[in-house]
Amino acid sequence: MNKRIYLDNAATTRISDEVLETMMPYLKEEYGNPSSIYDLGADNKRALLTARKQIAGVLSCEPQNIYFTSGGTESDNWALIGIAESRASQGRHIITSKIEHHAVLNTCKYLEKRGYEITHLDVDEQGFVQPERLMRALRQDTILVSIMTANNEIGTIQPIGKIGCLLKEHPAVFHTDAVQAFGHIPLSPKQWGVDLLSASSHKFHGPKGCGFLYIRDGLKLPAFLHGGKQERGMRAGTENVAGIVGMGKAAELAGTRMKEHEPYQRSLRDYMIHRIESEIPYCRLNGPRRNRLANNVNVSFSYVEGETIVIMLDMEGICTSSASACSAGQSASSHVLREIGLPEDMAKGALRFTLNEETTKEDIDYTVEKLKEALEKSRKLNPQYTSFAKWNMRR
Ligand SMILES: *Cc1c(COP(=O)(O)O)cnc(C)c1O
Repeated sequence: MNKRIYLDNAATTRISDEVLETMMPYLKEEYGNPSSIYDLGADNKRALLTARKQIAGVLSCEPQNIYFTSGGTESDNWALIGIAESRASQGRHIITSKIEHHAVLNTCKYLEKRGYEITHLDVDEQGFVQPERLMRALRQDTILVSIMTANNEIGTIQPIGKIGCLLKEHPAVFHTDAVQAFGHIPLSPKQWGVDLLSASSHKFHGPKGCGFLYIRDGLKLPAFLHGGKQERGMRAGTENVAGIVGMGKAAELAGTRMKEHEPYQRSLRDYMIHRIESEIPYCRLNGPRRNRLANNVNVSFSYVEGETIVIMLDMEGICTSSASACSAGQSASSHVLREIGLPEDMAKGALRFTLNEETTKEDIDYTVEKLKEALEKSRKLNPQYTSFAKWNMRR
């Protein structure tokens, strides 16, 4: 099969050619250790600084606020565990939401076992955290609030600026998992009162195994890895130079092209949603229509298993997802869909399509056609659907 339509950009993105080209020298001739003092090392050190500047440029912060990590999961672990451990004497209460990524949820579970108390905030039926509800959950011993910027399954963009503003009066540290947001929507941690922000390179056309944590000026966070002096002693270990160089380039490209990519993807997204809603019976859009990531379409279809449809679409060269990639293969349905109130069968019939700037209208048309065929085939095999269809002669 030669046709491939990749609509799973929330799981990961294709590394862009420009990014790969920028990385290549650092995988070949520029192999020096950035900590060495001869030229070969110094060149690498400069390359790290360039990447730090490129990322800082997108966040309107200083390069020294950026600490390189191995990805979104590590950044989330560092932020949560670091604050929990260093502030334990001030309190052991942490607030997060029920629809965070597992990198946050399972880190909270880990902390819970070690004596921390976690409040998981409910979200509304579109996945929004209510700032007033968060304020009510705040206590004197709350040391940390962690709310994701944008949800990886349903695309909900949280009111991070508003939450940050409300938290100004409280000493709790504010962390946001911006893995789905960085490079996709404008972010200003400084202006929003965000203390810590996680991002991951492979979600914005950079290489995998690379990410960063933004740490605001003056915030005391303990080191994550102990050893050498890399990352100012905060995250020891010889740097993933090629990865970091690639991430820096990817950040710069995403930052400069965001203004044109975002509206383009949004219009394709809305076109796809419109076609699905008007041409396919028994479906429901999950997540909001406004304040939604420009590339996210998540729809539940009755009378089918999402996973079956994913496999059928794969045979047509279309890559998509039935739940988040992290939980694919497990039979449990998505915690996010459950928390926005979907009944179990609707959660299991959910499909997520996440576009990118290279997705075309033709890709979407082809996908919708193949989706219609797959749904029809699959639904016909469902006795519930056939008996229901018999007496419900619609149209
Ligand atoms: C992908 C993702 C992560 C994990 O990032 P990795 O770099 O794959 O470890 C964390 N949070 C969110 C919201 C994500 O989408």
